[in-house]
Amino acid sequence: MPYPAPMRTACIPLRATLLNTADIELWPGGLLQARSNGHARLLARAQRVLRRKRDGQYLAVALAEGLQPLIPNLSREPGLAIAKRTLAQDAARHRNGLERVATLPLHRMQVRLETLGLDADRYAARSGLALIPEPTQLRFAGFDRWRRALWLDPGAARAWGRMQNAALEDGIVLDAISGYRSHDYQLGIFERKLARGLTVEQILAVNAAPGFSEHHSGLALDIGTPGEPPAEESFETTSAFAWLQANAAAHGFRLSYPRDNPHGIVYEPWHWCLARRDSAG
Ligand SMILES: [Zn+2]
Repeated sequence: MPYPAPMRTACIPLRATLLNTADIELWPGGLLQARSNGHARLLARAQRVLRRKRDGQYLAVALAEGLQPLIPNLSREPGLAIAKRTLAQDAARHRNGLERVATLPLHRMQVRLETLGLDADRYAARSGLALIPEPTQLRFAGFDRWRRALWLDPGAARAWGRMQNAALEDGIVLDAISGYRSHDYQLGIFERKLARGLTVEQILAVNAAPGFSEHHSGLALDIGTPGEPPAEESFETTSAFAWLQANAAAHGFRLSYPRDNPHGIVYEPWHWCLARRDSAG
């Protein structure tokens, strides 16, 4: 059972996608919780929900009859034109039955890192990590431990579903802690820590720099097992971890940050990444 039954609605297609643009995410209807009664009715009918990436604000719903704003001054929202174009392209793609995943440009991220006082080139050289672009499209891969939508690259979503099923056949329950994370999400963590008075160096000792996390690609996910705290080193003592060590490679996943990895990132037995994009199937 790779895709647990959704909590609120039974009509989420397994091939549901998150369309990604620089400023705005386009969610499929049925996955986002309404924050008011008026919005609940609109969200229930929405084909897509436009959501601002920086703060999660719902901006508009795409209904069969057109775009319905959820905020005043929608027309002045940064990135709206690109979001609308993406909506139109999505409709065309459905007609043509095509699925094409590209990546978003990195330029904005480089500028924002400079603003934070983080030299991306120097960090890349020192860590051996690369800036990772966000994909233009992500696939719904079921729900995470907290019943939030789990988004992954389409190939990773398929591989994760197959691996979760294979584990279950061996009596092992794998659950997802976290999959795709946007640049904005990771920047938010960084900015909150800076605001609390930590230095860039102190933050980088614990977190990968924003833009450099494998989670941005949609190919990586943090895996847990029921009864274990999320993202703790103790995961390595579980039968779920032993199963992953024996079987994950056959499903295309590898452990990104083993003990004493050359990137200087702490040992993360929970963090697995698809080693190659699976374009088939
Ligand atoms: Zn991770």
